[in-house]
Amino acid sequence: MIARNTGARHDPGAALGTAPPWEIREDLHLHTNASDGVLSPTEIVEFVSGTSLRFFAVTDHDTTSGLDEAETASERYPEISFIPGIELSSEIGESELHLVCHFVDRRNAALQAELALLREDRETKAEEIVERLAEIGLPLDWGEVVANADDAIGRPHIARAMVARGYVETVSDAFSRYLTPGKPGYVSRRKLEGTRALELVHGAGGVSTIAHPRTVRDIEEALEVLVPCGLAGIEVYAEKYGSDMIDRYSAYADRYGLVKSGGSDYHANGTVNEIVPGMNGPPPGTVRSLYERAVKMHGVDGIGYRLDESLL
Ligand code: AMP
Ligand code: ZN
Ligand code: FE
Ligand code: FE
Repeated sequence: MIARNTGARHDPGAALGTAPPWEIREDLHLHTNASDGVLSPTEIVEFVSGTSLRFFAVTDHDTTSGLDEAETASERYPEISFIPGIELSSEIGESELHLVCHFVDRRNAALQAELALLREDRETKAEEIVERLAEIGLPLDWGEVVANADDAIGRPHIARAMVARGYVETVSDAFSRYLTPGKPGYVSRRKLEGTRALELVHGAGGVSTIAHPRTVRDIEEALEVLVPCGLAGIEVYAEKYGSDMIDRYSAYADRYGLVKSGGSDYHANGTVNEIVPGMNGPPPGTVRSLYERAVKMHGVDGIGYRLDESLL
């Protein structure tokens, strides 16, 4: 039987729509347990070193705390190059907007101050969610929830604790039944205005890309606002996009002059058919294109990263 491609990023049964024809050498979107990934930064690097990748970006939600460890671990593997990144929780209009950002200087004070606020709010809201779940007869132990949350806590930590307790069968069930808008355990949290997020990233020598654009309610509106503010790219090779979505976002990238980026968005959830590093990603040369955008914007010395040309 041929698996139907739903295009859904959290449908564990969905097959990858279209496997790219190129060797996957660049993955610009990965998570560690500094946020809601399962593997530590060192474990991610070890994993990546066994794949076809040459460049990999660690892009945890609202934290840079995994970057030092990932960078140090990557020094043991001269054939791969680490790219510092972050995925910023943002919004545009009524829609959530995830911005995957690369080459940021993690010592930047303005960026770190804003990240600290986002994480504080994540923690407050996670506590509130746990309280709400207890009220409807689904108590969780806080220690259980934060067990693998090294820095930025998120709903996946709560969802995993719910699975461990047997309240739901899968993390996806926890989201659809309890943790999404309109459901009893949903609490909205602080997000950066998209334009403010770009300002912060640019102030820290980085460039920004729209992550998994399928999740943005009005992508044209988002592009109209963000491109004039210096948006550099859009993920085209993301999630389980088939050729219909690849064509759609590719056309936007062409129209707005954006880099066609992407990656696995790997969290090491361990679900069936999870996209793992090396399975999906943009064509070779994408890192160079993003880097060139960064150089144009900040100058070579204004970027928190040096491109290793020998690996291109
Ligand atoms: P949060 O950071 O609390 O907003 O949670 C968002 C994260 O949860 C995303 O980055 C995904 O990793 C994950 N996620 C979002 N929706 C779902 C879903 N329906 N099923 C499983 N994981 C999800
Ligand atoms: Zn995540
Ligand atoms: Fe995201
Ligand atoms: Fe992500």
